[in-house]
Amino acid sequence: MAGGLITIAQFRDLPEAGLAKSRLESAGITCFLDNEFTIGANWLYSNALGGVKLNVPEENAEEAKAILEETTESMASEASEESEEHLEDSACPVCGATEIETKNYTRKFAALTLLISLPLLLFWKRYGCKSCGHRWK
Ligand SMILES: [Zn+2]
Repeated sequence: MAGGLITIAQFRDLPEAGLAKSRLESAGITCFLDNEFTIGANWLYSNALGGVKLNVPEENAEEAKAILEETTESMASEASEESEEHLEDSACPVCGATEIETKNYTRKFAALTLLISLPLLLFWKRYGCKSCGHRWK
């Protein structure tokens, strides 16, 4: 009965991983995030570490995956509601393009801080270059 932990999902960003974790936990599934604290301490390392892995007990894997699929869909629609402002006065530090998008995770962070009690910054804005895909804070 007692199986090991298996990784059912991998996230590049801690907010997404935390949301998925909270969804699973609210459904009664115990889960663990790998790299959580390392990435929380320094976001720049998240890519180097391969993101945040979401692990669940083997016996809950199928159920957890089903929940995550719903989560992904709802997160996708939520993401489309997020404001994307064009910053005239910003340029990509890599390629110099001014086609910049911003994502404001303030709302997600506020929820996450409550849900997983991590000392996260409450205000976090991320920039992404539409030209080369480079992302930075
Ligand atoms: Zn760029």
